[in-house]
Amino acid sequence: MAVQKITIAIDGYSSCGKSTLAKSLASRLDYKYVDTGAMYRAATLFCMRNELIDDNGANENAIIKILDDINLSFIQDDLTNASSIHLNGENVETQIREMDVSNRVSQISTIVEIRKKMVQLQQKMGKEKGVVMEGRDIGTVVFPDAELKLFMTADMETRVMRRYNEMREKKIEVSMDEVRDNVNSRDYEDTHRKESPLVQADDAIILDNTNLNLEQQLQKAIDLAKEKISLLQL
Ligand code: C5P
Repeated sequence: MAVQKITIAIDGYSSCGKSTLAKSLASRLDYKYVDTGAMYRAATLFCMRNELIDDNGANENAIIKILDDINLSFIQDDLTNASSIHLNGENVETQIREMDVSNRVSQISTIVEIRKKMVQLQQKMGKEKGVVMEGRDIGTVVFPDAELKLFMTADMETRVMRRYNEMREKKIEVSMDEVRDNVNSRDYEDTHRKESPLVQADDAIILDNTNLNLEQQLQKAIDLAKEKISLLQL
């Protein structure tokens, strides 16, 4: 009998290590990995390039009109096994991690029509199950029936330090204070927005990784996933 596949939803605050965990979990289970934050970031980059958002805010009416011009896809690099997001055919994986995108993405992700488009795409990507999808509303809106839901958290200073180191490794010039302000304000905006705010699903399992190393948190997630998968085989 073929092993049945499940849907794994990982949600949580900014810079909690969701991507790191989701990527390694997907690779260990041989599942598809989807970084939904990258999709909102790429949509933000598109709006910035088309001058539809600036320091004064986003031009929502104009953004809604050009939604069909935002084409997103994930393309797997067979050499590195990493998948990168493409915006209208261009690999924008590096640009979307820049601070100016990080500072604007929460504003774009409050727009209802943007969310509808992203959720539809995400549901299509995960239709066949066998997917680890991470974001803010995966267990609540995108896949409310996911067999395994994890809600990740870690203390603020740990998160700031991790994000700072990650950006420095990518040679992005940034100060610790800038990172802290950005993480704080995205947490605030993501949990307070009207449309699909970040909340823990009732049936999600909390994973606080403040004091866990990568292997420990991965092992916890694998154990939980295997438990759910074996329930399906009964
Ligand atoms: O996960 P990441 O930090 O890259 O996400 C960037 C932003 O995209 C979040 O701060 C949030 O505003 C938005 N987002 C969202 N819903 C998701 C994933 C990300 O609103 N499912």
